[in-house]
Amino acid sequence: MLLRFKMVEAALNHTAVEVKTPSARPSDYFGEKVFGRNVMRKYLDKNTYDALLNTMDNGTPLSLDLADSVAAGMRQWALDNGADHYTHWFQPLTGGTAEKHDSFSDPDGRGGVIESFSGKVLAQQEPDASSFPSGGLRNTFEARGYSAWDPTSPAFIVDTTLCIPTVFIAYTGEALDYKVPLLRAISAVDRAATAVCHYFDKNVSSVHTYLGWEQEYFLIDESLWAARPDLVLTGRTLMGHESAKNQQLEDHYFGAIPTRVINFMKDLECECLKLGIPVKTRHNEVAPNQFELAPVYEEANLANDHNQLLMTIMDKIARRHHFRVLLHEKPFKGVNGSGKHNNWSLGTDTGVNLFGPGKTAAENLQFITFLVNVIAAVFKHNGLLKAAIMSATNAHRLGANEAPPAIISAFLGTQISSVLDKLENSSGDDAIRFDAKSVLKMSGVSQIPSILLDNTDRNRTSPFAFTGNRFEFRAVGSSDNCAEAMITLCTAAAEQLTEFKRIVDARIEQGVKKEKAIYETIKRLIKDCKAVHFDGNGYSEEWQKEAARRGLDCETSAPKIFDHYLTKSSIDMFGSTGVFNRTELEARTEVKWETYTKKIQIEARVLGDITMNNIIPVASKYEALLLDKAYKMKELGLKFDGDLELIKDIQNNTALLQRLVREMVEARKVANRVESQRERAILYHDTVAVYFDQIRDCIDDMEEVIDDQLWPLPKYRELLFIR
Ligand code: ADP
Ligand code: MG
Repeated sequence: MLLRFKMVEAALNHTAVEVKTPSARPSDYFGEKVFGRNVMRKYLDKNTYDALLNTMDNGTPLSLDLADSVAAGMRQWALDNGADHYTHWFQPLTGGTAEKHDSFSDPDGRGGVIESFSGKVLAQQEPDASSFPSGGLRNTFEARGYSAWDPTSPAFIVDTTLCIPTVFIAYTGEALDYKVPLLRAISAVDRAATAVCHYFDKNVSSVHTYLGWEQEYFLIDESLWAARPDLVLTGRTLMGHESAKNQQLEDHYFGAIPTRVINFMKDLECECLKLGIPVKTRHNEVAPNQFELAPVYEEANLANDHNQLLMTIMDKIARRHHFRVLLHEKPFKGVNGSGKHNNWSLGTDTGVNLFGPGKTAAENLQFITFLVNVIAAVFKHNGLLKAAIMSATNAHRLGANEAPPAIISAFLGTQISSVLDKLENSSGDDAIRFDAKSVLKMSGVSQIPSILLDNTDRNRTSPFAFTGNRFEFRAVGSSDNCAEAMITLCTAAAEQLTEFKRIVDARIEQGVKKEKAIYETIKRLIKDCKAVHFDGNGYSEEWQKEAARRGLDCETSAPKIFDHYLTKSSIDMFGSTGVFNRTELEARTEVKWETYTKKIQIEARVLGDITMNNIIPVASKYEALLLDKAYKMKELGLKFDGDLELIKDIQNNTALLQRLVREMVEARKVANRVESQRERAILYHDTVAVYFDQIRDCIDDMEEVIDDQLWPLPKYRELLFIR
């Protein structure tokens, strides 16, 4: 029997897997695999506990003695909870997470073993990490990279391994991961935002960054997945005729979740809760077999660790249920792709959400100040923000009329837009009055609280939308590390807030009243960054033209979009905030180009292989059958025009496929000879990837006419509907 049919049968035999959900309530097992504050209190002496908390909350360095005590407590907790190994868990530029497990036991020199785990080992390690992408920051002869403990994100246990969240840096101090720059960006925006907060409230001593991600994904039966080399090797289908029914009836979105899937979700959620990931929402997404999971938002560094962790454990748990998770942004043509909305906000240590409208005019001036500065930052760095979410995989999704276009604009909704319009058009002192207590009132603006509370504006076509008390960066890809988007957003906000403060302070120094100085500066910013504000339909063609007229970045080629990391304004922004130096930016951009090339290269190879080894042989076989039939018909003097048409069709397609694959291989050879990563990536984009759709169209045409009994690959209608 054809492998395809065997696999379809196997998939049909996969029934819902029983889940062993704990009888206890989530509140009883939440965080049970995390070395969190409750556990620390039990396993650490008071002195160590206080010092560690001080490190976690205020960044105070921990002495080696105390680190030893922390390590001892952590090890004891890990052993008590069944762990036998530990690992530094970090996020290299591959996009995934990395771990190298070491046993807790060491030979004691007398033929036995003892359990050992010192503060030094907890705090720092030197993994042999020469194979991680570094963009030339580490030559293999100077391959040293260090992982160093991030005490702000708690250690946790997966299976029997204690995982210690760490940063990953080069011997020379440059960042080789996502965590270092994320921590730097969070602290840059903390400094800049706190300083601006002092205009409104001197009691604010820090500003936190919050992130609530929404993870979209596809589930595929593992048997069918295994019969699709393209899914196995590239994470997406490189061919496949659309199913007659896919998402056009919109019957999947928020629909009843199939039992096999709900069991997987329950299993996953249980695991997440044990690991302290506060999962909250689950539902069917628009495309068949597409789902979403979202937790409650958390401090951004922790939220990002949690998303990275989620992506790993999702895969493990899916296998338990005979599924494979597809995190690729566009696994199937003709149905929606997957994103990862990043809900982002800033909040003070006094409990104020800086993107949340307040109750008084003064609170609202603060709110408007932060809102407008964010818009200004997004305007100034719209190209760079696009670079932050761009990849070979996400490129398929952006601008595909189901996801934000490859243009970064900001949606504000009618209420906020009209507030900004009023502010912008108010003239001089008319709009600004001070009452006896010098509380600022702006005409038309004092009503903000009541209007905004029921702001329900939704615009799914915008890549960056204000949604009432936060911004939702929707262009982030489902397989991305959220850090890249967060780093850029926080850094851009930090730079802009610093600039804002500089201008306002200068005005105050000239004798202008504080509120008036703030108000005037906001007013100017609203005017200056108007181009990026767009509340209309982001999917429309008019918007593409309009955006270009407005001077927004409209480039669609991923390798060229990466250039934004190296423009003067980006280098200045990252440099002045201390997030990346020039060397780091150059290295990371190299990695982006290289990764882009490799992904396209792998897809091109897989596409060529499947075409030559699977599709053409089957087409030839069917063609031969038809030819045989035609011959016999002719002998009998019967008409065989229909068969002849089909034969010609298949023959033409086969010949075309052979030519296209040959040309694609040639194009690859030419590109491979180019030394510069940037130029090579551009060639892969312009001269290699252009063959993908042509080859695919040809194959998909043949899928429509060739005998179903011969077709080698599981079809969309088989892949996409979990029973
Ligand atoms: P929707 O799909 O309607 O946007 P979801 O419930 O799917 O909403 O996800 C919204 C995400 O935004 C959740 O992770 C939620 O915790 C998060 N969120 C809510 N308020 C904030 C905020 N102030 N800052 C950051 N994230 C937030
Ligand atoms: Mg959302």
